[in-house]
Amino acid sequence: MSQGTLFYEGKAKKIFSTDRLEEVLVYYKDDATAFNGLKKGTITSKGVLNNAISALFFELLEKNGVPTHFIRTVDDRTMLVKRLKIIPLEVVLRNLAAGSLAQRLGWTEGRELPRPVVEFYYKDDALGDPLINHYHVAALGVATGAELAFLEETGLAINRILVRHLAARNTILVDFKLEFGRSQGQIILGDEISPDTCRFWDASTRKKLDKDRFRRDLGSVEEAYQEIYNRLK
Ligand code: UDP
Repeated sequence: MSQGTLFYEGKAKKIFSTDRLEEVLVYYKDDATAFNGLKKGTITSKGVLNNAISALFFELLEKNGVPTHFIRTVDDRTMLVKRLKIIPLEVVLRNLAAGSLAQRLGWTEGRELPRPVVEFYYKDDALGDPLINHYHVAALGVATGAELAFLEETGLAINRILVRHLAARNTILVDFKLEFGRSQGQIILGDEISPDTCRFWDASTRKKLDKDRFRRDLGSVEEAYQEIYNRLK
């Protein structure tokens, strides 16, 4: 496996081709954005920490029977993954109200949800990733009803695995975002699972240990990412 050409650059990652058509390299950058790209910055060592944290979560999920795109870590900022055709949906799982849900329903952040909430957002930067339901998914034609049911069930299963793993490490999984893709007729988990895409709170103090420290200018951003890595490794 050798690094080929850069064929996609996102806000936090770069994707390179390899000498195998079915495998790509994901390079994690230190760049951080929030509010649909309106706020920009860098978080020192974020790329290294998110690469390591995502690898640990993908390994945990694979061990629990959830297929992911992860193959192996290549270096401190790079992982080798299966090439996917990403389904343009963000699958968000929530255990406590926070962020856009708290705002939309006028709920206090940290309100307990009686059972996990699943949401779908249409991945479209120009539209600001709007919240959609299964009727919109069908109208957009991005996934069938059966595929959507599979994404929902798999999201809920992933939530159960992650909640239990993090609770044992004194960490509350408030909410997180997943992306899935198609590979050889199968739908598998792609993207990343990191403090960029999850809300983690310390279970004792409720201190935020995720990208909200960057979004809301709370300081100690790098330390929070490092703390999550320390709890998982
Ligand atoms: N999230 C993400 N990327 C997005 C939007 C949300 O990774 O483009 C994650 C976010 O980090 C949080 C969860 O999904 O863990 C729910 O985010 P929310 O809808 O509350 O939006 P936000 O408050 O981040 O705008």
